[in-house]
This record gives sequence, C-alpha cells and structure tokens, in this order.
Amino acid sequence: MTGMPPSPHLAHAPAVVVTGIGQLVTADPLLGDLSPLGVVTGAALVLQGEQVVWVGPAAAAPAADAAVDVGGRAVVPGFVDSHAHLVFAGDRADEFEARMAGRRYAAGGIRRTVEATRAATDEQLAARAASLVGEMLRQGTTTIEIKSGYGLTVADEARSLAVARTLTTETTFLGAHVVPAEMADDPAEYVRLVCGPMLEACAPHARWVDAFCERGAFDADQARAVLTAGMAAGLQPRLHANQLGPGPGVQLACELGAAAVDHCTYLSDADLDALAAAGTVATLLPGVEFSTRSPWPDARRLSAAGVTVAVATDCNPGSSYTSSMPLCVALAVREMGMTAGEALWSATAGGARALRRDDVGRLSPGARADLVVLDAPTYVHLAYRPGVPLVHRVWQGARPVTG
Ligand SMILES: [Zn+2]
Repeated sequence: MTGMPPSPHLAHAPAVVVTGIGQLVTADPLLGDLSPLGVVTGAALVLQGEQVVWVGPAAAAPAADAAVDVGGRAVVPGFVDSHAHLVFAGDRADEFEARMAGRRYAAGGIRRTVEATRAATDEQLAARAASLVGEMLRQGTTTIEIKSGYGLTVADEARSLAVARTLTTETTFLGAHVVPAEMADDPAEYVRLVCGPMLEACAPHARWVDAFCERGAFDADQARAVLTAGMAAGLQPRLHANQLGPGPGVQLACELGAAAVDHCTYLSDADLDALAAAGTVATLLPGVEFSTRSPWPDARRLSAAGVTVAVATDCNPGSSYTSSMPLCVALAVREMGMTAGEALWSATAGGARALRRDDVGRLSPGARADLVVLDAPTYVHLAYRPGVPLVHRVWQGARPVTG
C-alpha cells in the first residue's frame, strides 16, 4: 500500500515484518479506510532501525530478516501521554477517600506532596518516577511528558527536572504549580523567583514551560509572566486552565500560541473559538474528573467547534493517580461523549499534536516504531472492556519492551 525507500543508515539494520494483524490503526488518514484512524484490516508492517518503513495488506508485505505473527490481534500506535506529574514522593489516598465521602477538590492539597517531595532523596524521586514510567509502558504508553511542580524551590525544581530528563525528552517546568506555603503571604515574590533564578536553573532540563492558571493557584497576569519568561528562555508554552471553573486561562494560552491547554472542563463559546483559531490542542484529563468526582467536559462540543482534542492521564498523587491511558480512553468514551475511535485518536495522534511531535502517535512510514498489540480483535475493546489488561505486547523504537 505504501512504502519508503530504506534510508542509507538503515541499510544494515535488520528488518522485522509484523504479520497477522487483524486490525491495524495507523492514525494516518492517508492509509487504509482513509478515516482519521487510517484503519487497515489484515495488515502487516515492517520495522527497521527505530522506524516503521512499510505498512499495508499482509499479502503485499515485502520480505524481511525476521517475522513476528501477532495472531489476528489489533495493533495501535503507542499511547502518547502528554500530561503527567511523575516526580514526587508521598501518597494522598486519604484525600481521595475524603472526596469520595463528599469533600470537594481544591488546589491546596498540592502542598502536601511538595512537603514529601522536598524531604525525599534524589534516588527516591528517580526510583518512583521510573517505576511509574514502567507501569505506563506496560499499559502501552510509549511517549510521556513529565512535569516538575512539587519542588517549588530553585534546587527542588531543578532536581525534579533532572530526574524527568533521564526518562523523557518531553520535560516541562511547572514551578508555577502553586505558591508554596512558606511564600503564601507574598505570591508576587514567588512569581519573581519562578521567572528568575528558578527558570534559569530549570530551563536547561526542560522543553516546555507551564503554569496552573486557576483560582487558588495563579491568576492570568501571573501565568502570563511565567509563560513569557519561559518563552524568552527558549521554552515552549502550555497551560493548566479552566479545571475548577471558568477563567481566563484558555484565552491566555491561545494568545501566547501554546501547544496545548489542559483540563478545559469549563469553556465558554469564546474559549472554543479561540482554541480552534489558534490551533491550540485541548487536552482532556478524564482521570481527574473521575478521581475528584467533578463534572465531565463535553468532548462533543469541542469537536463540533473544530478544536483538536488530546486525552492524557494527568498522573499525579492528588487529583488523578492513574497511569492508565486505556482507562482514560474508556472514561472519555463513557463520560465525555467520544466514540472509541475519537478517544483512541486523541490518546495517540492528539497527544502527539499536544507535544508538537509528528514522529509518534501514528504508525506509518517514517514514524517511530512504537506500537501496542492488543489482546483484542479491534481497538473498540479498549473502551468496551474497561479495566481489563488488554496490552499483549509493546514495541518502543522497534524494540520489544514487554511480552
Ligand atoms: Zn496536571
């Protein structure tokens, strides 16, 4: 169906043909059924080096050095989790329990994790983060964004990002997560710290700059100061906003050309127009609404307005302690009004757009060979069989990492 001449540096890399793919989701709209998911039935794909080099019907597959038969299972792109907070210590199960008993979620609980994170050693932080990354990989996530935001001192934010950098290239400086307790009386001074010495120490380890623009965290002027300082230091902007109520965050993110604005639970019609016009991705985080028992955002309203939607976990110990993209896909379908196909697209290609990546989130020639074999005949089972470990095998950069 489609191929790509092997590039010279791949000439000696062994090629592996994956056959017996009952249903292949390429997330390339030029392939297969030409839908956004680009579904090919009875497919094969060829991996070489770290890339996909050929995709098409199994009967037309070229010869390769090795073959793997996946026995009629569905294959989907590795999930792209574009929003996760994995560098932290401690546990807040008691808060979850209290919320389920009726208490409302507020942003201040973050300070408890900050206290535990500051008290942890570098080794403890690195071990916890690596263990969560392993947990994600086993559930099919092959690209992960990791934020700082539980250190909130120059040294603790910098070491959080140094840990994150060992696990992913998609690292985000989130010094503006919440004003730490010791500076609660002087938020302006804290914003100056974030925009000055903290940014200077963190920028070498980060690709992105982020802020939590919400009542109880940072207002629009403070978030603007942080994002523009980050951009001046060479970082690209993204934003947490409109989670707990309507607010100015979406407009700010769109005005600054942010790649994504995350949460988007409360949106005005003007917010939808701004997102569509700016091409800023709205990242929905269904684990948060689940874990905080909050109202669900309406994905149908976003797609009707022409907004690109991503789905991510927001994995963190306070408001969403799940590492499971399959769970988030199921919740997005059941509670946010997405079809299974839309939710899978948002969890792969949508996540890639939220990270401004075109080499992940799809399985077509030239993409990284990050793929998930499901113990299922179709991707619909991701939502149809919630909570079931359907990941049979994962390849990352053409290397089998599980199974
Ligand atoms: Zn978050």
